[in-house]
Amino acid sequence: MNFSLSSDQHLMVETIRRFITEELKPLEELVEASGSLPDAQAHAIHAKGKALGFYAFNIPEAHGGGGLSHFDRILCEEQFGRTTDILIRRAFGNVYEPLLHCQGRQIERWLAPTVAGTRTCSIAITEPGAGSDAGGISTRAVKTSAGWRLSGAKHFISDGLWSDFFLVSAKTDENEISLFMVDKGLPGFTVGKDQPMMGLRGTPHIELFFDEVPLEEDALLGARGQGFKLAMGALNVVRLAQVGARAVGKATHICESMFDWARERHQFGKSIGDFQMIQQMLADSVIEINAARWMVYRAACLLDEGHDARVEISMVKVHAAETLGRVVDRAVQIFGGMGYCKDLPIERYYRDARIYRIYDGTSEIHRSVIAKAVLKNGAINFDPFH
Ligand SMILES: Cc1cc2nc3c(=O)[nH]c(=O)nc-3n(C[C@H](O)[C@H](O)[C@H](O)COP(=O)(O)OP(=O)(O)OC[C@H]3O[C@@H](n4cnc5c(N)ncnc54)[C@H](O)[C@@H]3O)c2cc1C
Repeated sequence: MNFSLSSDQHLMVETIRRFITEELKPLEELVEASGSLPDAQAHAIHAKGKALGFYAFNIPEAHGGGGLSHFDRILCEEQFGRTTDILIRRAFGNVYEPLLHCQGRQIERWLAPTVAGTRTCSIAITEPGAGSDAGGISTRAVKTSAGWRLSGAKHFISDGLWSDFFLVSAKTDENEISLFMVDKGLPGFTVGKDQPMMGLRGTPHIELFFDEVPLEEDALLGARGQGFKLAMGALNVVRLAQVGARAVGKATHICESMFDWARERHQFGKSIGDFQMIQQMLADSVIEINAARWMVYRAACLLDEGHDARVEISMVKVHAAETLGRVVDRAVQIFGGMGYCKDLPIERYYRDARIYRIYDGTSEIHRSVIAKAVLKNGAINFDPFH
């Protein structure tokens, strides 16, 4: 077991961190104030991110992506946690792995342009009536002689205003879910309202409505009836990277501000970092972040070794998301009134952090997954000597 990173990995992390500090962080306040990332800045950071060489870094080189291992990917994702969701989406892309199931003409039409960054895709699974119960959807695709006819509705779809097409889950039979690639602009496909959120300003989250939308045969991704498996398999990796690793990165970044403030803020003639109650909050934050980081790294190594790691990733999802929640709450406390005031970004970090316990499976759902696994398999998922 080797806990050190190679010089290449250090260089990669430093490169990304510098790019985030110099190119993305200066845009955060603009996004926060206006509620969106203006097109001019979006195109500019998109071009700069691509020039850096990390666009679609999770996709194999054979398909034009960066071809990073899971471990290297999460090292990048940890750094992504240092800035906001929308800036990362524009600079580095968000190419969902189910697209790797594209075959034949589908590759040119959907996969290749998404990896190249000329088209953008969002994933549309959640519906007003089906969130945690992703198998309980009402959206349906009926077979026709020309392909399929899609009807139903989705909501909360991240980045949907910018996206050119959507990976949509639909029932193709009573007990069968399939995934479809659905282009914006098809007849019967309407984009609903942008649903305002507590945080994540700048990333739109939209409603989608499908009224008998005609889909070509080619729109079916993977085999009929395999949609649930494709989506859940991909989301497993997404939640390790975009929730687990980003939560660790975000919490680390917030901690750095806490250390500075604890050193520099003086009350009663001392820096507040001299007070033991403040010290306890700092120490607990560091302990919890470090534990979360090693859980993230181990789960990524398991994926690289070819293991499924589903239960380990559920543990990461819960622990990293809840650690971030506790750390940012302590940050508000240590900053006092300034932690609550919009003059500093701490209150924004607090709002942005809250979603980590909800999307990509709530903490309750992941705790159920873990409990069911250990009741069935014993300690195999967390005891390496089992
Ligand atoms: C900002 C944001 C971005 C999102 N982006 C996307 C996206 O891009 N694409 C997409 O498809 N979806 C997206 N979602 C949807 C997200 O994945 C769901 O909100 C999430 O899965 C929870 O579903 P729900 O909101 O319907 O809550 P519900 O499923 O209604 O859950 C409500 C509460 O009940 C609890 N609960 C439910 N079932 C159980 C159970 N069996 N045991 C114990 N407790 C239970 C939950 O844990 C929760 O506390 C997004 C949501 C948000 C807020």
